[in-house]
Amino acid sequence: MHGAQILVVEDEENISFVVTAALRLSGFDVVEARLGCDGLRVALAADPPDLIVLDVMLPDIDRFEVCRRLRAAGVGAPVVFLTARDATADRVRGLTIGGDDYLVKPFSVEELVARVRVVLRRSGKSVESPVLTCGDLVLDDDAHRVTRQRRVVDLSPTEYKLLRFLMRNAGHVVSRGQILDHVWEYSFNGESTVVETFMSSLRKKVDTVGRPLIKTVRGVGYRIDRY
Ligand code: CA
Repeated sequence: MHGAQILVVEDEENISFVVTAALRLSGFDVVEARLGCDGLRVALAADPPDLIVLDVMLPDIDRFEVCRRLRAAGVGAPVVFLTARDATADRVRGLTIGGDDYLVKPFSVEELVARVRVVLRRSGKSVESPVLTCGDLVLDDDAHRVTRQRRVVDLSPTEYKLLRFLMRNAGHVVSRGQILDHVWEYSFNGESTVVETFMSSLRKKVDTVGRPLIKTVRGVGYRIDRY
């Protein structure tokens, strides 16, 4: 897969945990920092990150100062700000200082990962192909088209997102909880039967020709095979 390196600077442990897990699951290499000074140290090291996810409310270095210092030191990596406020002034200030995008808390991890991909692609840092392949199943994210044995498979928007999530993690098991977080963007409080329902309809469309690709891993989740 792709291995763009992402630095996450966030002092709130829960947010950092969720963001880091989501990015790793999406195939990125992630380095975490809790404080602005640690973030700066990592970003200014010999092997700088390709993108920085930066909380603007850190306990040690104020708001956009981390980004200002990065730019002053010649670090050109794009920055995605995490902000608790929805003020236009903040956004403009952030973008002017050299940030490339921002998300207002609370945000969904799916949205964060999507923004990170867009910003990386825009900056030319992404080596990720928009075309995902598992055997004779092909998902072209640019064309928003899925084919199996070269025939177009007609999927609903949710089925498409579900399949894309499975294919991005091809060869690895994804749990129902991870699927809920990434595909539905909000919590069902454990009502994961919705995943089974959509998985069943997805299988009927994708796995009726050729060998079945989507596997149920009992008690854990689902996996799509790469071959
Ligand atoms: Ca914070």
